[in-house]
Amino acid sequence: MWSFHIPTMVHFGLEVVKKHADFTECGSKAFIVTGKRSARASGALYDVTKTLTGQNVTFVIFNEVEENPSFSTVEKGASLLRNENCDFVIGIGGGSPLDAAKAIAVLGTDPEMTADDLYSGEIEYSLPVIAIPTTSGTGSEVTQYSVLTDNNGNKRGFSSFHAFPLSSFLDPRYTLTMPEQVTISTALDALSHSVEGELINNGANLMVKGFSLKTTGLVREYLPRVLDNPENLLYREKLQYAAMLAGMVIAHTGTTVVHAVGYPLSSRKGIKHGLANAVFLIDIFRRISSSAKEQVTKAIEPFENLDELSEFFKKLGINNFSVNIEEEEIREWAEKAAKAPHNQRTPGKLDRDFYERLYKKIKGVDE
Ligand code: NAP
Ligand code: FE
Repeated sequence: MWSFHIPTMVHFGLEVVKKHADFTECGSKAFIVTGKRSARASGALYDVTKTLTGQNVTFVIFNEVEENPSFSTVEKGASLLRNENCDFVIGIGGGSPLDAAKAIAVLGTDPEMTADDLYSGEIEYSLPVIAIPTTSGTGSEVTQYSVLTDNNGNKRGFSSFHAFPLSSFLDPRYTLTMPEQVTISTALDALSHSVEGELINNGANLMVKGFSLKTTGLVREYLPRVLDNPENLLYREKLQYAAMLAGMVIAHTGTTVVHAVGYPLSSRKGIKHGLANAVFLIDIFRRISSSAKEQVTKAIEPFENLDELSEFFKKLGINNFSVNIEEEEIREWAEKAAKAPHNQRTPGKLDRDFYERLYKKIKGVDE
């Protein structure tokens, strides 16, 4: 038995905002959530504000979302949204602004609520969220997740049916301005979602299996092409589609410990999210393979085996990754990784010692 449900209406294609968005269905005043630059640089903000104006929907822009968005940023946004009486939220950007938009849409409904409350008990209500991705990676435009960074610097995801965007608009033109490192990192995030999600799924949900197979194949084929031809819209479109499918995968499966071990690299060392997963993926999958070889081999299809996947990573230049980490940090992070709920979804028994070895392997030489 399996089920599949994504409540988000997806609109996909060139100039899709101008051609298909009817914002009057969402409310009369929009709260637009973005990062500092990319919403504008990608052209997405222009399309959205022009369309809103044409439809007589007023708006306020909150452009303060940083990478790995913090509790204080989403609380600030929510308070501004309430003061401005906005009745729906439009997130434009990578996963960071989209996740922040989801949190703000919930917090904006209740002045008593803090970001911490997003993690305790059921979320009962959210303003409608429209998601407009400018990266091809997180799949946040079709997931019920939002990942924030708490006041102690820990990345923490919350999950709620109310966090699924009402609709998403995917226009590959918005991804053309991504610098190479963002293109690589976000595509690797989509690939991680695909293979991690299918590892958990293990063939059980046929839709998930199909989407994972498709995603992994698309990233394998089109990431190298995009890197050779960054201006090619067709190639960019393939990656954007792949990332969305992978979002639908993890919406049904969650992610493995690969994501859990990557989190502190992003929140403490500023390493981009997709890269922070990818640097651990091969070692973790090899270890799992020692007790569940067939499951791993099937999860990474159409890659033939882990050697081929590892070779793919090598060509992207991520095999020699290192970062300065203190011994104390290694102990603390390994302890946390061993306690992460992702362990329950990941096959094989991975313990604290294993996580310590993983972090030690990428520890740079101290100056
Ligand atoms: P991001 O953190 O949103 O953005 C990374 C950088 O790329 C920023 O500097 C951003 O600039 C820039 N950028 C984005 N789009 C661009 C474009 N079209 N042109 C030029 N620059 C662009 O990156 P992300 O990898 O998409 O998102 C990562 C976050 O999503 C993490 O916090 C991660 O934990 C989370 N995540 C969420 C889910 C989910 O299901 N909700 C799944 C996986 C990961 P600006 O700052 O100027 O915008
Ligand atoms: Fe991710």
